[in-house]
Amino acid sequence: MTEQGRLAYLPMPVVVDAAYASRLQEVGLPERRYRFSQPCVEGACSQWTGEGCAVIDHVLDDPPDDARAPDARETRPGTLPTCAIRRDCRWFAQRGAAACGACPTIVADIGGTATYRRPG
Ligand code: SF4
Repeated sequence: MTEQGRLAYLPMPVVVDAAYASRLQEVGLPERRYRFSQPCVEGACSQWTGEGCAVIDHVLDDPPDDARAPDARETRPGTLPTCAIRRDCRWFAQRGAAACGACPTIVADIGGTATYRRPG
């Protein structure tokens, strides 16, 4: 998460192992500052609608606030964020460039329940 409140992308995927996860935890709730990815597990995820991921549909079709609406400047050809996981990205496969326009605004833990529920 940058000071401007938008995610920046890593040029190469970084594997988060136990030691790295532990270091991230030491400085606070990592999901407020990073968004992590993993292979989509479809029906094994509570966000799966049966046809796709409810998170990106929610953000694009019913943005929680204006700041999360897709930024058209980032969905024109050649302007998509440089992203190391696009080839495997569920959101991109599901919603195309529009997903990439909203993607930098989506953080797992914003202290509410719009995109994330704490267990328990
Ligand atoms: S929505 Fe686009 S920018 Fe975001 S992770 Fe997927 S491919 Fe990358």
